[in-house]
Order: sequence, then structure tokens, then C-alpha cells
Amino acid sequence: MSEPRAKTRTKPAGEKDGYRGILFVISSPSGGGKGTLIRRLRETVPGVGYSVSWTTRAPRPGEVDGVSYRFASEEDFERKRQANGFLEWAVVHGHLYGTARAAVRQEMARGRDIILEIDVQGARAVRKAMRSVVSVFILPPSFGLLRERLTARMTERPEELELRLANARGEVEQYRYFDYLILNDEVERAAAQLAAVVWAERARRRRQEWVARGVLASLAEGLRSTANAFGAARDRAEPTGPLAEGLPTTCC
Ligand code: 5GP
Repeated sequence: MSEPRAKTRTKPAGEKDGYRGILFVISSPSGGGKGTLIRRLRETVPGVGYSVSWTTRAPRPGEVDGVSYRFASEEDFERKRQANGFLEWAVVHGHLYGTARAAVRQEMARGRDIILEIDVQGARAVRKAMRSVVSVFILPPSFGLLRERLTARMTERPEELELRLANARGEVEQYRYFDYLILNDEVERAAAQLAAVVWAERARRRRQEWVARGVLASLAEGLRSTANAFGAARDRAEPTGPLAEGLPTTCC
């Protein structure tokens, strides 16, 4: 007979005492490098889903509809908003952006952690709407580097780039409402810190209690079967030694 095993995370998601997905919100000013850090995170940490946002801004070269964003017309966006299809939505740098409610619900019901890469307004709205949110703010090291990064990626027209830089200060001022701050001055370290946040949040006692209960149940079961096996062996054994020979025994 095989040994009783501790319950593991293979339990079907959504069960009362199973692992529930964590909702991570990650924000930074445009050019703060959160895209790169999130990509690294998803390459190195298993089980992290990503919510593809809706937006009315035009696709940049290389962006794929349904992968980078769900690119929508203002009418489509408005229709979805009216139908209560967004967990949150906001006007960011002059365009509409929104998180599809159904996608988040679906991932979390499957027991997967999910990342929302959204702006500070969206982060505030999600914190209000959801019971449990882990929020991370990625700090750019300096204004100079922010400008350098935004200029180097050549994805915005000059006036759009200036708007994003102008908005950066107000966004960084919101850092105080986030659970974690990661300075993105060195990508390797910043990526490792983000991964560490995810691992640490997963290990929180309240998220692992059902695992501990499984281990305890397994220990109790193991001890019971060991005691039973020991008792059976003792009953089967032929009496030998001083007792069998009727000699006086010393006891402890
Ligand atoms: P970008 O146009 O550079 O892709 O994104 C501009 C800003 O919009 C970024 O700060 C990004 O995080 C934010 N953003 C992307 N998707 C969403 C969303 O669904 N909701 C909100 N509130 N912001 C978003």
C-alpha cells in the first residue's frame, strides 16, 4: 500500500480550501520598463497569467491585436463599458484603456495568478473593486532615463512623448498607495525583485493554510498506520525472552 501523501497544489482550482489566484496590479509611468519586467516574470515564474487590456489607441508597429491589446474603436469600447464589461477603465494619455472583467474572473477561477499592467487610476479602481489585490509600482530611476527610454523606443510622436513625460510626475506621486516599490535602475535586479514579490505573496500563510492542513492530515494518517502496523507485528510475534521464560523482569 502506498504511503498517504500530502495534498499539493494539483487540487482543482476554485475549491473552497484550494489555492486561489492572486491579482497583481503593476503600474509605472510610460517608459518605466514595466513591460520588460513583466515579460521576464512570465518567462521565469510559472503560473502567471496576463490580462490583455482593451484600448482605443492605434496599434504600434509589431503590436498584435488580442496579444498586446484588444484594439477597439471608441464605439466598441463604449458598448463594452455600458455592458459593465470592464473591471476598471480610464483615459490615459488621451486614449481609453480598460481591463475586461470576464478575462480576470476566468483566470482567477482557474487558480492562476494574474497580472494587470495598468495605470495608477486603474490601480486605484481595482483596489476599490476587489477584496484582495497586490500592487507593485515600478519606479523609473530618473527623468533623464525616462526620456531616453521613451525616445529610444520611437513609438510615440514628439507631442505624445511630451504628454507622457508631463504625466510621469503625477503618476510617480501615487507610489504611496502601492504595496511594493521596485526601482528599475538595473533590469536583472528589478526582475528578480518582482519575481520575489510573486513567490513571497504565494507563500503567505493565509494562502497556504490548506496545504499545511493537508500535510497535517498526512502526518496524522502516517502515524496512525505506523501505530497499527506496529501493533499487528507485536500481536503476531512469538513471545520470547525473559517474559516467555517466566523470569523476573526489570522495568523502567
Ligand atoms: P501604452 O499606450 O504605452 O501601451 O500604455 C499607456 C498606459 O496605459 C500605461 O501606463 C499602461 O499601463 C496603461 N494601461 C494599459 N492597459 C490599461 C488598462 O486596461 N487600464 C488602465 N487603467 N490603464 C492601462
